[in-house]
Amino acid sequence: MGAMQLSSSLLTPRRSTRQIHVGGVAVGGGAPISVQSMTTTKTADVEGTLAQVYALAAAGADIVRCTCNEEAAAEGLARIVPRSPVPIIADIHFHHEMALAALEAGVHGLRLNPGNLRKESEIKLVASEAKDRGVPIRIGVNAGSLHPDLYKKYGAATPEALVESARMELAYFEEVGFADVKISVKASSVALMIAAYRLASETFDHPLHLGVTEAGPPPAGLLKGTAGIGALLAEGIGDTIRYSLTADPVEEARAGRQLLESLGLRERKGLDLIACPSCGRAQVDVIAVAKEAQAALENLNLPIQVAVMGCVVNGPGEARSADLGIAAGKQKGHLFIKGKIVRVVPESEMVGALVAEAERLVSEGVEARLAAADADAEAEAEADRRAMLDERGPDPNASEVRIDRIRKRVHEEGDGSGAAGQGGGAAP
Ligand code: SF4
Repeated sequence: MGAMQLSSSLLTPRRSTRQIHVGGVAVGGGAPISVQSMTTTKTADVEGTLAQVYALAAAGADIVRCTCNEEAAAEGLARIVPRSPVPIIADIHFHHEMALAALEAGVHGLRLNPGNLRKESEIKLVASEAKDRGVPIRIGVNAGSLHPDLYKKYGAATPEALVESARMELAYFEEVGFADVKISVKASSVALMIAAYRLASETFDHPLHLGVTEAGPPPAGLLKGTAGIGALLAEGIGDTIRYSLTADPVEEARAGRQLLESLGLRERKGLDLIACPSCGRAQVDVIAVAKEAQAALENLNLPIQVAVMGCVVNGPGEARSADLGIAAGKQKGHLFIKGKIVRVVPESEMVGALVAEAERLVSEGVEARLAAADADAEAEAEADRRAMLDERGPDPNASEVRIDRIRKRVHEEGDGSGAAGQGGGAAP
């Protein structure tokens, strides 16, 4: 029995839940507990958001959530989703048309807040459309934005009130035959959150997303998150987790990963190989190159993050948080360290060059390897980037088609102004 199996076997066995899929990530039903985080960029800032998504994935996030609070955010999602290395969930508050627009954008999941999206007809419309597209929804109840009727009924945000809010939303979903759901009942009080999740786990067999909301900056935020999430995980409750920190979200992803590793619920990472999902811009078979690189690197046991990216147009920027990476373009491999191109090699030598550079990077350090960069590598990469843009055009992922549909959808469903921008900021 491995160390991981040994320590996790000392915890209360995990409660059985249904399984759903957020893109390629299984949640619940015995799947590994996944780590989530949320971007802090404006979702309309596609390059900035993607760079953060890659940094989160490199730090251990399996799923990333982005706010979808305005039409420009939905349009950003249409461009982000095909290039994201992990499934993307759209965070929705107040505006059901933003949920419909996010579905048009191709997101892998939605998060709805029953406390501020309250019209039955709108909730059912979103659930029907999610069902047709096979996209799961998280019912994200939050003690701080509980449905006013439930405040009245219970006099406060009690565990019963939080669970009833989820149950009401679930009943609407069930009326349209939608059950592809996970549930969260977050609170900023650790004790309240623990009690609410215990009750939720007795009430529902849907997967539970754990979190202490508005936990604040580290170290207090980390301690609160760990107290709440860790206590529940030790009781066998929880299928996916998110730390809500007032900090760089990379810290959230890292903390989530470390907590799961410390409880023996996820494997420890040595070499961390990340790869882009490939998209209309890819210049190589990313899956094959990533497999080859993994096979060549895994026995070397190097403590670095290595990225395999399908194109030099966006790859080095998207994976700039990785220590080292290779991006394809024009039958060449563009080797980069911390996002900076240091060498260009023939495509057939990509993996060999990556392995050699990985070893030198570990023995000599980042500064020395950046100093040893080929002087003309950046210029050559820039020429390849331009040539690829000319060849494939600016929209190889057909994001513009989705964006046209988003615009029609928002203006059909909204009040005609398309100004669905208030009150939908980053939420816990
Ligand atoms: S092929 Fe290029 S743009 Fe597409 S996901 Fe990979 S790195 Fe990003």
